[in-house]
Amino acid sequence: MAKQKIRVRYAPSPTGHLHIGNARTALFNYLFARHTKGTLVLRIEDTDQKRNVKGGSQSQMENLHWLGIDWDEGPDKGGDFGPYRQSERKDIYNKYIKQLIDEGKAYYSYKTEEELEEQREEQRAMGIAPHYTYEYEGMTADEIKQAQEKAEAKGLTPVVRIHIPEMVTYSWDDIVKGHLSFESDTIGGDFVIQKRDGMPTYNFAVVIDDHLMEITHVLRGDDHISNTPKQLAVYQALGWEPPKFGHMTLIISADTGKKLSKRDESVLQFIEQYRDLGYLPDAMFNFITLLGWSPGGENEIFNQRELIKQFDPERLSKSPATFDQKKLEWINNQYIKKADRDTLLDLSLNNLQEAGLVEQDPTPEKMEWVRQLVNIYSVQMSYTKQIVDLAKIFFDAPKDLSDEEIDEIRKDEARPVIEEFKKQINLISRFTAPQIMNAVQATRRETGIKGRRLFMPIRIATTRSMVGPGVGEAMELLGKARVVEHLDLTLKQMSENGL
Ligand code: GLU
Repeated sequence: MAKQKIRVRYAPSPTGHLHIGNARTALFNYLFARHTKGTLVLRIEDTDQKRNVKGGSQSQMENLHWLGIDWDEGPDKGGDFGPYRQSERKDIYNKYIKQLIDEGKAYYSYKTEEELEEQREEQRAMGIAPHYTYEYEGMTADEIKQAQEKAEAKGLTPVVRIHIPEMVTYSWDDIVKGHLSFESDTIGGDFVIQKRDGMPTYNFAVVIDDHLMEITHVLRGDDHISNTPKQLAVYQALGWEPPKFGHMTLIISADTGKKLSKRDESVLQFIEQYRDLGYLPDAMFNFITLLGWSPGGENEIFNQRELIKQFDPERLSKSPATFDQKKLEWINNQYIKKADRDTLLDLSLNNLQEAGLVEQDPTPEKMEWVRQLVNIYSVQMSYTKQIVDLAKIFFDAPKDLSDEEIDEIRKDEARPVIEEFKKQINLISRFTAPQIMNAVQATRRETGIKGRRLFMPIRIATTRSMVGPGVGEAMELLGKARVVEHLDLTLKQMSENGL
């Protein structure tokens, strides 16, 4: 038997920017499609007109591309199963809605929102789960017709509901969660498949599309589990074979231990936010893949090729994935250390310009200076925007010593070192890192002080930092005038502190 070609889809609703959770869904579908040489479909689920945001689908697509995810069929690509925007598929949905109505499997429902709410309230008061009860109970076909005509005459607009049979079990073998099953009486009664505005509901449209687009596997977040029995009811009514389902575990925040919520602004959750901070797409891709999936073993750094090779949906984790921003920083730092210098320069320059520290149109000399700055700080950066803080000393006015730095200097015989160093830098012919290091060595010879007791006072006095890049490189970039200013200021402050 020929092996079935895998067709998967990522189906965002354009209600906002690309969230980490959605990016994960997209990414796993992408890896699955590429691993199996199958097809990834991008479908825009834009039937909820009230929730759509302008530019939402464009921004989703742009951020997916940035992450390195591409698809084979979609609104921008075309394909044999289009259109790929649900808002353009209304005729297709209407055809199946009509078919179900004609077969007596769906019907027009005229209950108003107020009536439905009243009914739910009564049910709650009686201690039963709110659900829709059939409004034509016990009526003959003629009576139903009359009731509907009366409602029409009143000017009421109907929705279309699907009949949910009693005592049916909807079950499936979930790729991630194992066997799941729901009784038909737990899904809330006959549900709406077409809204008053004529648009299909999500649970209906998704079935029509997944079937017509020949989707073989639906991999999505486990917040959709309760939708799956409803979708199975639609498959059954239409006599169609459902695809395989896999519901990926929840993502919880490492800080709060709670489900990652879009409303929690203390955690950055949108791909765009990380982009703005200067995260690298490959690092994000790597990190997101590990949210609920692991290839086994200790290694955590994988490139896209390796991930495609190793991806196996059977290894999707059953337990919640923890979103740990610190881990993401660590992974990004690993990628920064290996990154192409020009990429880092572009990102950092952008960050420095946004912070107003570098002009929009720097001279070639200034560009070279920024390049060196980025080079010396890149090992320390978790993401490029950190350069704005790390490199403050290069942009701010000459800075006093902090209390902590004074305490550090107090430990050593700093004065002779600093005075001697100041003398030595006047003896070097060019203010370059190697010559500056020669001046440090000369200071060691002249004072007899070495090691940390030599380096720490020099580092603090010149660059105002106890950790950081090589002092020679940092001083070269600071320039002689600023270094001398810092040395003088240090000596003055030491005198004031009796040192
Ligand atoms: N449009 C749905 C969402 O964004 C997709 C659900 C699905 O994958 O079936 O959550």
